[in-house]
Order: sequence, then structure tokens, then C-alpha cells
Amino acid sequence: SKDAGGGHYHAYEPQLHVHAEERRVLEMALRKALEKGELHLAYQPVVSADEAVVEGFEALMRWTSPEHGNVSPAKFIPLAEEARLIGPIGQWALRTACMEARNWPSTVRVAVNVSAEQLHDPRFVDAVRTALADSGLPAHRLELEVTESVFMREGTNAVAVLGQVLALGVRLALDDFGTGYSSLGYLSRTKFSTIKIDRSFVQGASRNAPESLAIIRAVVALADSLGMSTTAEGVETEEEYAMIKRLGARKIQGYLFGRPMSPADARALFPNATRT
Ligand code: C2E
Ligand code: CA
Ligand code: CA
Ligand code: CA
Repeated sequence: SKDAGGGHYHAYEPQLHVHAEERRVLEMALRKALEKGELHLAYQPVVSADEAVVEGFEALMRWTSPEHGNVSPAKFIPLAEEARLIGPIGQWALRTACMEARNWPSTVRVAVNVSAEQLHDPRFVDAVRTALADSGLPAHRLELEVTESVFMREGTNAVAVLGQVLALGVRLALDDFGTGYSSLGYLSRTKFSTIKIDRSFVQGASRNAPESLAIIRAVVALADSLGMSTTAEGVETEEEYAMIKRLGARKIQGYLFGRPMSPADARALFPNATRT
């Protein structure tokens, strides 16, 4: 700026501008991504802790943009939420995941991430119902993953919406447990099937951080006494697997058992499966 002597805070302006510009460009590309077929889902196995049998997959969104390359969901999901694109994108993910799960054995579930903005939409429960009806997937094979943030979203009665989803027979998982504004009240008001223990605690425990070990132990005990299952996320090594088993988590998800993979690779794990 020509106001060179006007204080160093001026130096921030161009940077903010670039940031906003990058956001704007990404947002414009994201607006077109769905119709241009640039979005797809990767499926990461969730296995039983005791025998490492595949119990389900978590569907994770991927965006391959011709201009921007592979954009991380950690970047484009928040952008989609702010730009009010998460509704259509989330609904596409729900439908696509339900359709794909029909190619797996009837014991194998699919988990789909749902953000607070989606629950806020009065059409959400209908979208879930339609995805199930159109795919023919039995409701009990669908699990929706929400984080504690859904209960913080003002103007949404998340407990009521989740109650309607439960009434369809769909399962619920509480994702990233312990990383947000945890309140045990949610656990008594909403019947979650599974509590997902965030990777940060698994990493902490594998460094023998006493707090992480204590938190995992406490979450497992809490889940057990509430009749809920637990999934430990981000298990990368045999050591972590052994430790998590010792701490009593029921299910495991992590690179040790499989990275998020293509639908074809997921199907190939069940060579003898017939469509259900
Ligand atoms: P999340 O729901 O907590 O998903 C788990 C993340 O951990 C995924 O990252 C997964 O690839 C990663 N992960 C799994 N195992 C390991 C491991 O052993 N080591 C390491 N380092 N990472 C592991 P991803 O796919 O990058 O997704 C990031 C986040 O983006 C998700 O976190 C979720 O919050 C969001 N997200 C992804 N797909 C969707 C979607 O379809 N809808 C919504 N609303 N959010 C999504
Ligand atoms: Ca998740
Ligand atoms: Ca998680
Ligand atoms: Ca996470």
C-alpha cells in the first residue's frame, strides 16, 4: 500500500486477501465438483478388536480437482459447510455409500459422516429415508457418524432429529469423542451404538501418556456400562493394536488394517459375496 508509514499491521492485508481469494476460487470449483463427477468416496475398514474381522467401512469423501489436485476433506468439508454446499454433497455421499454397501456381505455396515449443518436442514431425515429406500439397504446396516458439535449448533434440536433417525432403525456413532465440548448428557439423551475414540488419544497412549491411557480406559468403561461399543481410530502399529485390545476397545480403525480404499478394493475383500 502507498501508506508505507501507516503502521506494520498493513502487512496483513495482502495475506488476508490471498487467503480469501484462494477460498473463493476453491469454493467456486467445489460448487461444480459434484455435477462434474470430481467427488468420490473411499472406504476404510473397521475391524473387530478380538479377531480383526471386517465389521464395516467408514465412507470418507475425496475430491480430485483438475485445477487443485487432491484437496483434503479437512479443507473442503469446512468450506462446503460455510458455503452451504454440504447439504447436496452430504446427500450424495449418503446415497452413494448406501448403494455401495449393497455389494458387501449382509453383516457389513457402512458409516457415513454427517455434519451439524446437515442435521439443521429440515429435509435431512427424509434424505436418509430416501437413500435407504432407493438403495434397498436395511437401515441397521447404516451408521451415521456425528460429532458433539451437532449438539452445540444453535437453532437445531439435534436430540430430536437424531431420535427420528434412530426411529428409522439407523445406528448412530459419536465421532471424535473427547475432542470437543464433551457432555455426558448427550450420551443419556441419544442412543449411540458406538463411541469413536479419537486418534489423538491412541497416539498419546502409544507414547504411554498417562492421561490418554486413563481417558481411553474411562471411555471404554463408560461405553460398556451404557451398552455402547467403542472404536479406536488411527491405529497404525501392532504395538498400538495390542495396547488398544488391552484397554478393551471393541473395534479398530486405522492404517494397520487398511487405508481408505476404492469401492473395487473394498469389494475384493469379500471374494465370495453375493449382492444382498
Ligand atoms: P474423521 O471422520 O475423524 O475420519 C477419520 C480420519 O482419520 C480420515 O481422514 C482417515 O483417513 C484418517 N485415518 C484413519 N486411520 C488412520 C491412521 O491410521 N492414521 C492416520 N494418520 N489417519 C487415519 P480423512 O479421510 O482425511 O477425513 C478427515 C475428516 O474429514 C474426517 O475425519 C471427517 O471429519 C471429514 N469427512 C470426511 N468425509 C466426510 C463426509 O463425507 N462428510 C462429512 N461431513 N465429513 C467428512
Ligand atoms: Ca468419522
Ligand atoms: Ca473420527
Ligand atoms: Ca476427526
